[in-house]
Amino acid sequence: MWTVKKEKIDLDSVFVEHGCAESALATRVLRALPPDVPVTHVADAREASRPISGASDPFGAGKRRLVIARRKTPFLMPCPAGSSKFACCGYLVLTLASNCPMDCSYCFLQEYLADNPAFQLYANYTDSFDELDRLAANAHGRSFRVGTGELADSLAFDSLTSISRDLVEFFAARENLTLELKTKTDEIENLLDVDPRGRVLVSWTLSPDHVYRTSEHLTASPAARIAASRAVLDAGYRVAFHFDPLIAYPNAERDYLLLIDQLLDVVPPKQISFISMGGLRMTPRLRSAARSRFPDDPMLCGEDVLSSDGRFRTFTPLRLSLYRALAERFKKAGAEIPTYLCMEPESVHQHVFGGSPDRPATIGQRLARA
Ligand code: SF4
Repeated sequence: MWTVKKEKIDLDSVFVEHGCAESALATRVLRALPPDVPVTHVADAREASRPISGASDPFGAGKRRLVIARRKTPFLMPCPAGSSKFACCGYLVLTLASNCPMDCSYCFLQEYLADNPAFQLYANYTDSFDELDRLAANAHGRSFRVGTGELADSLAFDSLTSISRDLVEFFAARENLTLELKTKTDEIENLLDVDPRGRVLVSWTLSPDHVYRTSEHLTASPAARIAASRAVLDAGYRVAFHFDPLIAYPNAERDYLLLIDQLLDVVPPKQISFISMGGLRMTPRLRSAARSRFPDDPMLCGEDVLSSDGRFRTFTPLRLSLYRALAERFKKAGAEIPTYLCMEPESVHQHVFGGSPDRPATIGQRLARA
């Protein structure tokens, strides 16, 4: 059956901020960790979250430290990838944790969290429920898709925290809020005995086996992710899939189409809530951090060009051709699956789908109800 993989979280130290030690979250986490991991109580956890000076890989070293602290800023924010330059999907981000125990070579957190690389779990996470209730109360008939998988994988810490159960119970009782749990794990144990009442979507980022093996360290295999999606579907959850980043390596199109066949053999197209696609994109700072941490990764050395938003992106004809091949394959599957592109301008959307995208708020509403 599904295994809980807390052994993947290999820690040298844990820091607990004053006032958090008695919290339900700290109690659960400290009980689940091996007893030999040293725990230090600190007045202010900010210093413990920073990079260790002199470490050869400060970001990697951050993934060996866990900080339990109060979040002092709002939990809810617009997706940081959103921009008026892109045809966006109206996604709202709920930050309940920061950084990720897996280690994908292309992960944008290597840049985004370079100054705060330690794992952070927020002891006051139930305060986020008040923010969500205020959002819902002011919604005036709108529906929102809210996700926890932006600054951390949504389920990677769940074997320590069990937060997913509280989240599912909260969202199950809210008609105009949909929770998206986005993951590359198969750690669905906690989800299987809570009833989501149709309000929770679990989404998997999928990559071909070749990308998984070269670049997605410590993640569940693509086959395991697909099997986990079938299990949560059977338990009453909605499912969605992200093909992001799409990477254009030799034979990529063949491998992605094979992956889609494997997915559709297990999950019927009419049961897929939506698909997203996004090409590999890296700022110069991220590209240099990723290449320095993963010098032998061939996926970081494809044909890319610096685009007008300051990111290196896969050479446009290669990117468009992959988008079109995948969109065509899903179209042939026999059921219309809502599909959107992440961080792409309207012009790319038109090339792939032959029409203009809806406004972000409209797409967000549609995906929340899909
Ligand atoms: S699973 Fe997601 S958050 Fe975790 S390292 Fe990979 S890309 Fe980053």
